[in-house]
Amino acid sequence: MTALGPRLMEGRGLTSAEATRRLERDGENVIPRAAPRSLIARVARQLADPMIVLLCAALVVVLVLGDRVDATIIGAVVVLNTVIGVVQEVRAEHAVAVLDELASPQARVRRDGRFVELPAAQLVVGDEVRLEAGDVVPADLSLGEAVALEVDEAAMTGESVPVRRGTGEEVLSGTVVTRGRAVAAVVRTGAQSGLGRIAVLIAATGLRPTPLQRRLSRLSRQLVWITAGLAAVVLLLAVLRGEPLADSLILAVSLAVAAIPESLPAVVSVALALGALRMARRSAIVRWLPAVETLGSVSVLASDKTGTLTEGRMTVRRTWTAEGACDVDGPAYGRDGAVRGASADGSAVERLLRDVVLCNDARLTPVGDGWSGIGDPLEVALLVAAARLDEGLLHAPREWRRVDETPFDSESRSMTTVHEDATGGRLVVVKGAPETVLDGLADRAVADRARAEAHAMARAGFRVLAVADGAPDRAPELVGLVGMIDPPRDDAAAVVSACRAAGIRPLLVTGDHAETALAVAREVGIARPDGEVVDGDVVARGEHVARVERIDVYARTHPEQKVDIIDAWQARGHVVAMTGDGVNDAPALRRADIGVAMGKHGTEVARQAADLVLADDDLRTVVTAVAEGRRIYANIRTFLRYGLSGGLAEVLVILVAPFVGIATPLLPGQILWINMLTHGIPGVAFGGEPLDPRLMQRPSPSPERSVLGEGLVRRIVVGGLLIAGVSIAAGLLATAHSWPTTTVVFLTLGLAQLALALALRAPRSTRGLGERALELSVAAAVGLQVLAATWTPLQELLGTRSVGPAAWATVLALAVLPGAVVKVSAGRRPAAQPASSPGSGARPSWK
Ligand code: ATP
Repeated sequence: MTALGPRLMEGRGLTSAEATRRLERDGENVIPRAAPRSLIARVARQLADPMIVLLCAALVVVLVLGDRVDATIIGAVVVLNTVIGVVQEVRAEHAVAVLDELASPQARVRRDGRFVELPAAQLVVGDEVRLEAGDVVPADLSLGEAVALEVDEAAMTGESVPVRRGTGEEVLSGTVVTRGRAVAAVVRTGAQSGLGRIAVLIAATGLRPTPLQRRLSRLSRQLVWITAGLAAVVLLLAVLRGEPLADSLILAVSLAVAAIPESLPAVVSVALALGALRMARRSAIVRWLPAVETLGSVSVLASDKTGTLTEGRMTVRRTWTAEGACDVDGPAYGRDGAVRGASADGSAVERLLRDVVLCNDARLTPVGDGWSGIGDPLEVALLVAAARLDEGLLHAPREWRRVDETPFDSESRSMTTVHEDATGGRLVVVKGAPETVLDGLADRAVADRARAEAHAMARAGFRVLAVADGAPDRAPELVGLVGMIDPPRDDAAAVVSACRAAGIRPLLVTGDHAETALAVAREVGIARPDGEVVDGDVVARGEHVARVERIDVYARTHPEQKVDIIDAWQARGHVVAMTGDGVNDAPALRRADIGVAMGKHGTEVARQAADLVLADDDLRTVVTAVAEGRRIYANIRTFLRYGLSGGLAEVLVILVAPFVGIATPLLPGQILWINMLTHGIPGVAFGGEPLDPRLMQRPSPSPERSVLGEGLVRRIVVGGLLIAGVSIAAGLLATAHSWPTTTVVFLTLGLAQLALALALRAPRSTRGLGERALELSVAAAVGLQVLAATWTPLQELLGTRSVGPAAWATVLALAVLPGAVVKVSAGRRPAAQPASSPGSGARPSWK
């Protein structure tokens, strides 16, 4: 225990006006960031992409060969892609900046004499800040008053054993308060602070690619090589057929250009970043962009109880003392209500409620006909109960001044305070989990009776606290038990069943008693009839590993045991999301694939360690975020299917057509035009497609699969074959009827790709124009494609000719075929993206 430090800081902090002046002078308390990239640097980055390098090489080839038309089109493709790339990069960075802002740390600072919660960026030198366990130190501070303050300085020193810091000492920004509380003065902010000095050394260099982006860029490099190989084959065949070398070279280069989905990087970055922004609008703040990808694959959701599955509004409903039990009634924070029962007038219940007021850090203020509480909801509930017996009890701390304390922590599961009255008499009060408090009692018989009573209360769903007091030099004496209820949230059961429907296994991991935990788990549907409930001790002994899939509820767990639970699931190939809010939850939040922290009631440490912060503290938001993750992944795969089918079809047409009697199926400029039309506009629109609701009715996709896995390659090949098939068929019919063959092939190939885009779009829930980006872009592209064969300037540029009604009818009939086939066969499959499970389908069904 620590003696209370002298009250050094009785100041009123700064005035708002003075703080504003200092903020203007010194700047915001933020870690310096790398300057945003210049436009030239952004353009250079786009041009360095292997796909664009290939395009530029093609441009040089056609320029050397003097082919102005193709040079113009390739130039336009390069410009269009660079513009799209730069715009998307800026949009993505903007989205991430907004997210950063949303997830920025808060600080409790005294302004104009009152403590208020402000963004830590607003702190200035001289501000007075309050620190509590779970806070990340927001600036370099000099401690005024420190009570049992311990700080984890791992961020600064790498040493993760918390160190005690006392009055007069400094704590550095970025370190974590693990215990105790303090009031401190800001001495350095921003770049001058401890974290700032480190950050300057390792200034971030823009956005790092996510794992999916890295996998896709590997894929695009492979595609570049494959296409280059195919282009070489086309070149060779053309030369063997006796075509002029220059023309053959242009054809091969155009084909290589067309077969590559160069808008892929733009589609991915915008899908991820805008997806994260969409989540943020729905209260799910992603703190780390790659988490967006992982979210869709979550297959286990381990949730804590208080405030997550329950309302977090605790109410004392029962007391038990040696004199008997009492019921406490009245609304949660209402002033009506009373303590009722045969022993309600006795001294034992009064002593119990006085003790819970003394051993308490919360504060209660009357508001209207109720109370408003600040502090731990459990402690607020204790104050309300005491007020129901006698409001005078709230003044007990005046009579019994607190002189010493050991704050609550979830390791000891108890809190101890020492008090002194006017005569110098001392009183020690302990409150905490019955297991902890009752074990320390001198009288075994009393402890056993209380234990049986505590069990019965826990089984009835109460959260139980035991309270003992006594003189400092003797073992404490039991005063009684307090039973609290914290009803499950209205929507908790719905969240649990939505999880199960989506193939996500819900678990409850709590520090509470097994019986209390089970009562809540049953009510919300987490506990299955045959599911097991285990204590943290089982986890400590490693006995949970073999039967991890049978366990629904983990009770009396310490935060570090959460890490073991995550490990056991991950070892079975699962992707685990874990909620946490406490000081010691940070390791578990980091170890989980998706660490989830509560924005309102969680600690700053938990928020900073999490991948996802729920701004509304609502577990439903996790399900929303999972849905968003699945949507994004599905959209990227759909784009790949669309883009690669089209590229493949173009290659096949060029390769196969000469063998069936169509010597020149397409001109190089036409290939490039189709490419620009199909990839450019509708391509990017795929990133914004809505969620196919079927994606939330089956298990998550495996995180480790290839982005082209699970039949996507087969579907790309089928799509490519269908489009190539109808294009060649159109060419043959054109030859037979003496229609302009090249134009007919050009129209069919382009329109068939656009029809496929429509066939692959996700089902719409609304009819609003906002969701119609894909349809609108396809319509625009169709219009341009028709213009290409009808408007004279474009005809001259692309070498197309006008075609008659019969040819148009043939083109249209054939062009819709591949899309129709894809649509009909998708309608017969359960969903657009098949289910898969890690561990080759070994995952049991938990419905
Ligand atoms: P949950 O999953 O419900 O959020 P938790 O894991 O956060 O629970 P803790 O808050 O660590 O659980 O509480 C563990 C136990 O410690 C409780 O069951 C209770 O008996 C005791 N306890 C909780 N808060 C206090 C407090 N302020 N003072 C004393 N004891 C407490």
